[in-house]
Amino acid sequence: MNHRKLIPAALLLLAAPVLLGQPIRLKAGAVARVPGRIRAGHVIVQFPGYPDAAVREDLVRRGLRVLEYVPDNALMVAAGPRADLSGLNVAWAGALEAEDKISPLLAGQVSGAVLAVFHADVEMPRARQVARSLGFDAIENPGLLPRQLVLSGPLARLKELAEFDEVAYLMPASADLAAGVRVAGCAGAVTEAGPVGEYALVGTGWPKDAAGKVALGYFIRNLTEKMDAATARGEIESALREWTKYSNVTMAPGTQGAARTIDILFASGAHGDGYRFDGPGGTLAHTFYPAPPNQETIAGDMHLDADEGWHAGSSVDLFSVALHEAGHALGLGHTDRPGTAMYPYYRQVGGLSSDDIAGIQALYGAPATTPTPPTQPTQPTPPTQPTQPTQPTPPTQPTQPTPDSTPPALQITSPGLSIVSTTAEAITIGGAASDNVAVLSVKWAVSTGGSGTASGTTSWSATVPLLVGTNVITVRAYDAAGNSAWRSLTAVRR
Ligand code: ZN
Ligand code: CA
Ligand code: ZN
Repeated sequence: MNHRKLIPAALLLLAAPVLLGQPIRLKAGAVARVPGRIRAGHVIVQFPGYPDAAVREDLVRRGLRVLEYVPDNALMVAAGPRADLSGLNVAWAGALEAEDKISPLLAGQVSGAVLAVFHADVEMPRARQVARSLGFDAIENPGLLPRQLVLSGPLARLKELAEFDEVAYLMPASADLAAGVRVAGCAGAVTEAGPVGEYALVGTGWPKDAAGKVALGYFIRNLTEKMDAATARGEIESALREWTKYSNVTMAPGTQGAARTIDILFASGAHGDGYRFDGPGGTLAHTFYPAPPNQETIAGDMHLDADEGWHAGSSVDLFSVALHEAGHALGLGHTDRPGTAMYPYYRQVGGLSSDDIAGIQALYGAPATTPTPPTQPTQPTPPTQPTQPTQPTPPTQPTQPTPDSTPPALQITSPGLSIVSTTAEAITIGGAASDNVAVLSVKWAVSTGGSGTASGTTSWSATVPLLVGTNVITVRAYDAAGNSAWRSLTAVRR
């Protein structure tokens, strides 16, 4: 079966002057075939330098659609049969081969669902037709990113699927995607020349300064009115800290618009960078990669959609989204591994996975003292204080010279599993809490919305309503001094 059209004459003209460029770094392995095989359809065109607006406008005049930026200095373009590339100064050009489009994590996979990413100009009825023609079924999900399908079917035919020119990349689908649980995705880290393709391994991060260090600033331009300002700022700052904790990068409060400064802002709809936000749901955020490839001062900037229902500890969880976007601000692309902070679909997490840490350390190295990596799977973020009724600050007791800084201990004993599956509309949970002074209260919150106070303290129980899909329940025990401990439980309602 040949899914490819023949090479039109105009494109053949390109093949002759092609020189060997820097290898294009793909997730499936570097590509530097000489000369590149050119065909009509989707082609990577690499330039001797950064393809600025003038280069991209030239391509459009020549009948090409510029779809994505591919590090370094390359663009993924859709070349129609009338495209004329004669005389264009290119370093390398070529199409993705089927093996370039299959995640290394799918090698040998015999069951499970696949996330299929189609090129940005492919019509979805055509994408579905391509998948169906090989016996794949689509698992529907209202939160899927544009041009993506979750497929189940004959994994032995993945290579045939990848041979279709419409397909850009195939990677493992997360458990949420496979189960049809409503998700929200990241449209990808962006550059001024377009988003970066999911098949590409992205750049080298921020260049080190003369002292061999990477010292970045951050500036929070505005916050969301959906959350208490101090909480929102705290969630964003702890997301940034999570990355610097594990890598040889420092981040300190900086000045708006300064070089090597991550500007963080909430914006609605179009906000001046060509990547408009789409209201509640859909795209939650986007982030510009470091310089290079982006120019200062937009390099590293994180934009969050002001129209989302931002929360701390439940959906849309600001910490989890900021953690993912901060990874892009530092130069990381998406990982193919479900459950990591950098997987393209957000998941409520409490920190980085070992995969994310390996990624950031590959760019910047480990910090002088490496903290212990988290145990897998990562815990969701506990709700921060302001989602709870504010505890009155206890008056300072002159008879108690040492303030109590010991948090309570908390256990969930029922159910005895950290993940439960049920068809019920609610789940009753219970456990124990203890403290060096006394447990004041035990509170719960669920990611699907809702929160309350458990009955009892040292022995407590609560009935938590469940929505269909994944419900992450976080329980928190407080003492009178405001110290707290938390535990969580995932309940999947079918
Ligand atoms: Zn992303
Ligand atoms: Ca949105
Ligand atoms: Zn933006």
